[in-house]
Amino acid sequence: MTHRVIYRFRRDLRLEDHLALARALAEGRLVPVLLLDDVTVARIRANARRTAFYCAAVAALDEALRERGARLIVRRARHAGPALVSLARSLGAGAVAWSWTYDGPGLADDRDAVQALEEAGIRALVSHDAPVLSPEEVDLQRHAAGEGYRAFAPFYAAWRRVALAGAANDRLLDGAFDVAGIEGEALPTSHDFGHEPAALEFAGGAPAAASRLAAFLAYPAREYTIARRLFAGPSTAHLGPDLALGAISARCVVRELRALAGRPYAVVEERHSYAEAERSLALRDFFLQLSWHWPRTHERPLQEKATALRFAEDAVGVGAWEHGMTGYPLVDAAMRELRARGWMHPKARAVAASFLCFDLGVSWRRGREIFDRYLIEDDAALATGNWQWIAGVGADMAQYPRIYNPVRQARTFDPEGRYVRQWVPELASVPAHAIHAPLDAPPRAQMELALFEAARYPRPVVDHGAAARAFLARYRAALSHPT
Ligand SMILES: Cc1cc2nc3c(=O)[nH]c(=O)nc-3n(C[C@H](O)[C@H](O)[C@H](O)COP(=O)(O)OP(=O)(O)OC[C@H]3O[C@@H](n4cnc5c(N)ncnc54)[C@H](O)[C@@H]3O)c2cc1C
Repeated sequence: MTHRVIYRFRRDLRLEDHLALARALAEGRLVPVLLLDDVTVARIRANARRTAFYCAAVAALDEALRERGARLIVRRARHAGPALVSLARSLGAGAVAWSWTYDGPGLADDRDAVQALEEAGIRALVSHDAPVLSPEEVDLQRHAAGEGYRAFAPFYAAWRRVALAGAANDRLLDGAFDVAGIEGEALPTSHDFGHEPAALEFAGGAPAAASRLAAFLAYPAREYTIARRLFAGPSTAHLGPDLALGAISARCVVRELRALAGRPYAVVEERHSYAEAERSLALRDFFLQLSWHWPRTHERPLQEKATALRFAEDAVGVGAWEHGMTGYPLVDAAMRELRARGWMHPKARAVAASFLCFDLGVSWRRGREIFDRYLIEDDAALATGNWQWIAGVGADMAQYPRIYNPVRQARTFDPEGRYVRQWVPELASVPAHAIHAPLDAPPRAQMELALFEAARYPRPVVDHGAAARAFLARYRAALSHPT
């Protein structure tokens, strides 16, 4: 008789190229379970788009299981550990398998669930599936294995030396599931999370993620170096939300990029683009391992000495920042894109985050919380790592944090003002030479601006130059005399 193993889908909502699923299969026939526990619900309910995207991904997984004669067994419970113990007992399962999460609260919950299961005499089989390479695999590349990397450059050098696993064989899934006679609850809907169903620009679920990857590889991937830099340039991959829910395998993305880069007729610029896109996936692995090794970073800076540097939790201007009304057109375009789409251009995120932390002096935690109100991507480990990085209190801490000048960034990477025109309609008819700093235009030009909608556009909430100088003075003082 084969053993029953519960497979708990969490942030790995697909069947394809699934390491944790493949490992669990070696233990017996799988009961596919989705647990709507407090930790999961708290993350997913952050905004209506995220909820709709999640529900679509769950529905797609259920459909894929039905094509294999199974279905998703849904359970609602407050705490994962006790719920899994009682489910395993009622189903006569000797083991529960799932894949690790990487953000602080998710990881604590995973570890609690492991403990609850082990205390009940049930095996917990937890594997790495989300990263391209597991933290341990990259750690083994250096002598002090198990310590993790606090800087990206050595991590990336090690990451590139590790061989990538081949695709998990989907044929293994034939006859893999066992749901006979097991009752489940209804699939989650937006209402379960307290939202009305939201319209989505990007459809959710593994098939949609695969199409998105195919569309990216078909052309935009060749221009990725430009896409990352120009705010209104070619499209980046838009795979963040899919990767966050595991609707696509990160290993599959890297394999495809390497295959393209290896084609004999790929030109040098294309190869650069493929390599840079692969580096982005390595950056994702870097932040996942950072949170894995230092889960406390969810609340506290990676750099202990940076705790001496005080950021406000609130300040005049935060509301204007959130609503895209700071008077800095690039920052405002970025925040309005976020609110309108549930997504923001990656480089625009860096500029908008820098503005909040340095120009307004507000904490990275507050910034993360505000982004979370709108982002479809639900990856708290990536959010934390990036916010701390920008705030100069996380990985790769330099002598001084990089303070982005929002006007200079706009003039360099949005020279025609296309991005600003798209998201800040008040400035749509302002000429390119004035669009990024309307108040710096010569007096005559300013009189002309008043004729346009630009008159409705706010004055800057802060003087960037003065704010940056004041911040650097505080930074120097705090780090030379830590409290
Ligand atoms: C302040 C700030 C906050 C961020 N918050 C989040 C967040 O909440 N959730 C989230 O998933 N990402 C976050 N990022 C990382 C990154 O901006 C997004 O992953 C990316 O914009 C997603 O869009 P894309 O798929 O088109 O990216 P692409 O540029 O096409 O990259 C492809 C994939 O590589 C990975 N990647 C790219 N850049 C990064 C990066 N800087 N860090 C980690 N992985 C990366 C992502 O998985 C991304 O989907 C944040 C970045 C900054 C600067």
